[in-house]
Amino acid sequence: MPMTQTPPPPSATPATSALALVRVQIARACKDAGRDPSEVTLVAVSKTFEAGAIEPVIAAGQRVFGENRVQEAKAKWPALIEKHAGIQLHLIGPLQSNKAKEAVALFDAIHSIDRDSLCEALAKEIAAQKRDPLLFAQINTGAEPQKAGVLPQDADAFLKKCAETYGLKISGLMCIPPADEAPGPHFGLTAKIARRNGLKLLSMGMSADFADAILLGATHVRVGSAIFGGR
Ligand SMILES: *Cc1c(COP(=O)(O)O)cnc(C)c1O
Repeated sequence: MPMTQTPPPPSATPATSALALVRVQIARACKDAGRDPSEVTLVAVSKTFEAGAIEPVIAAGQRVFGENRVQEAKAKWPALIEKHAGIQLHLIGPLQSNKAKEAVALFDAIHSIDRDSLCEALAKEIAAQKRDPLLFAQINTGAEPQKAGVLPQDADAFLKKCAETYGLKISGLMCIPPADEAPGPHFGLTAKIARRNGLKLLSMGMSADFADAILLGATHVRVGSAIFGGR
């Protein structure tokens, strides 16, 4: 008899076990909120992790991924997209206007729209490349000077300008609550601004607080370390 070795099951990496747990937690939060789990998209945030760490998560069925830098995403995702059908890539970090062309070419969603120069650059590239990325405006709910995003009091006017001046179809809002505050009020404020502007999508909630975000209406949760581990 030849010696045989039992290969490990394909789903046995720490990241895929963690992914399964996050999915259970999302389902539970949806149940608590009386929401249909199909309303919540899990964006698996793979920033800083290499293709070898991402592959098992794709193999486990995850298709929506988030990255926060255009250059890093360009280096690792085109090969993965080629190899696996149905990948959707979301840009969740700040975007410089001079990278709008590359961002529109690579990403299926952009979560960080927050100023006129970026609107102008994105509108131009969306038209030129005939792409239709899902667009979110980022709201700086904590008015933190170091953080990107439109101030809450400027949000209505900014959204109006996106549509009327730039012809950009913004579908939702994104926020990143201040690290040292309870996230609930920030999620609530973001949801309120979206509601009064007729926007249906809410990108909010990360590893530590995605269940709270789902209770307050999140449609896109951006979860990194709870899946891939610490960075
Ligand atoms: C890194 C990042 C995340 C994921 O954060 P975790 O705490 O690792 O889940 C979510 N959103 C944005 C904008 C990020 O940059």
